[in-house]
This record gives sequence, C-alpha cells and structure tokens, in this order.
Amino acid sequence: EVFVLNGKFVDQNNAIVSAEDRGFQFGDGVYEVIRAYNGKPFCMDRHLSRMKQGLEAIRIPMPLGIKEFEKLCNEALEKSGLKEALIYIQVTRGAAPRQHIPPKGLKPTFVIIVRGTPDIPPELKEQGVKISLSPDIRWHKCYIKTVQLLPNTMAKEEAKEKGAFEAVFFRDGIITEGSSSNIFIVKGGRVFTHPANERILHGITRGVAIEIAEGLGIEVEERAFSPEELLKADEAFLTGTGTEIMPVVQVDDDIIGNGKPGHITKKIMEKFKEITNCL
Ligand code: PLP
Repeated sequence: EVFVLNGKFVDQNNAIVSAEDRGFQFGDGVYEVIRAYNGKPFCMDRHLSRMKQGLEAIRIPMPLGIKEFEKLCNEALEKSGLKEALIYIQVTRGAAPRQHIPPKGLKPTFVIIVRGTPDIPPELKEQGVKISLSPDIRWHKCYIKTVQLLPNTMAKEEAKEKGAFEAVFFRDGIITEGSSSNIFIVKGGRVFTHPANERILHGITRGVAIEIAEGLGIEVEERAFSPEELLKADEAFLTGTGTEIMPVVQVDDDIIGNGKPGHITKKIMEKFKEITNCL
C-alpha cells in the first residue's frame, strides 16, 4: 500500500491529518476511485475531470492541476508495484477551528492511497447477484462524489445483512442507483438506465457501459425506471469501478428474468473485459 499526503509519499503511520480537518468534522470534501488494470489506470482522465467538477461544485480549489494529479497517481501506482489496484483520492477543504462557514484561503488536504483490488468472488460474475431495494434518503446533489456517505454505508450494511451484494436506492417511484454503483435494466433488447442528473453519480463505468452497448448496436435509453419495471426486466446489471459490470439476478425475493445473467449483459461484460485486458 502506498500513501501520499499533500503531495508527499509517507508511511501509513505518518499519513495523519488534523482533528480539525473539515473532511473529518463536516464531510467537507470529495473523493475518486480509479482502477488500474495491468499497471495502467483506466479512464483516469474522466475520473480526474469528475473530481475537478465536484470540487468546483462545492467551491474547493483543486490543490494540483489535473496533469499533476495524473503524474502523482502514476508514480504512486508504480511505487506500489501493483498491477491490479485501486487508486483512492480524497480532497477536503482543509483544517480550521470548527465553524460552519469556512475561513477564506484554506489549504485543501489531499490524500492518495493505492492498494489492491477488492476480492469479489469470480462466481458472482458468472452466476449474478442479489440486490436489495432501499429508500433513497440522500440529498439532491448526488452527482457530487462527496465523502458524506452515511446513507450509502448504512444501506449497504443492511443489504449485506439480507444476503444482498448491493443496496439499490429508489425515490419517488423510480430506481436511482446503487450505494456504490449504477444500475441498468434490459427489456425487449433495449437497455435503460437513470439519466445523468442530480439524483445519481455520473458513474464512469456507467458511461463506459453505455458506449460499449451502443458500439455493439444495442439501443440505450437514459430513462428512469420504476421498481416494478426492474422486477419485470429481462436482465439487470450494476456498474462501478470496484464492481466492474455485475449481473443482477434477484431483487429481494424476486427473480429477474430466468435467474441467470442475461445475454446482453454478458455481451457487455465480455467487451468490458476485452477493453480492460488490453490496457
Ligand atoms: N454511484 C455511486 C453512489 C457510487 O459511489 C459509485 C462509485 O463508487 C458509482 C455510482 C459508480 O461510479 P464509477 O463507475 O465512476 O465508479
């Protein structure tokens, strides 16, 4: 594992930030997770530009330029010696005596952590997973990848207790996204996913999956769908940096399609694997 704190490589024991960091006290910051395949970061430019947009949205200055972040991430990845890795980046507003209004001119705190990829058993990709529905109690700026993740972590934990791989949120009669993934359904040969608006994180893997589907000549509609439509779907799948593309075969007690990963899902997974294998 490699730790970088404010641009300097440090041991884990020295990766220490102030007790008055606004990330710690207010969840005042954003993060990114970039996956590396074969020692090469996948879609790093898209992740870093989303991070820049998120920081702009909450008015934290970028502590480094995109190019410098890119260089530092590459250096950290190389130092880790890992070929398959997750690069975690977190930027918070910085440290100041606790009060809601941040003082002017704070220096953002930023951390980069490189570690191995999560071990998701390969059988899950072959057999598909169960998901569990959970009310979406989050705010209306879900496009910002903020470190304030309590609704997500709580929903995921409850889903795990129900034997589900992921919690999927619904709000106002529509399915939004997973606690750390986006969700797609397939119906009548067409693919549907929630539009990229303020109710979801505009997942990088979501974007890649849409491009793959379109490249395969499959029609994609960015249109919200209801829990009922999810239950009646022919196929469903999740997308995410850690999750990659994961078939969904069960929603709580209901089976999706024939209970096996669908053929359009499998085609998209195959292409995704091909792309990431060729990095
Ligand atoms: N939605 C949420 C709420 C997430 O936290 C994540 C990733 O962690 C995603 C979707 C998937 O985004 P990406 O494909 O960029 O990893």
